[in-house]
Amino acid sequence: MAEYKCSNCGKIVTLDEIGLKAKCPHCSNRVLIKLRPKIVKKVQAR
Ligand SMILES: [Zn+2]
Repeated sequence: MAEYKCSNCGKIVTLDEIGLKAKCPHCSNRVLIKLRPKIVKKVQAR
């Protein structure tokens, strides 16, 4: 599931919540920052 962060209220909204309106369901702001999916990278320190 793609997640976005509202640049105005800072809430995390999913693509489902945004729907076709392409705006924040909480404050109607249209600037949403796409978040990267949570991928845990294991980097070995040397
Ligand atoms: Zn918002």
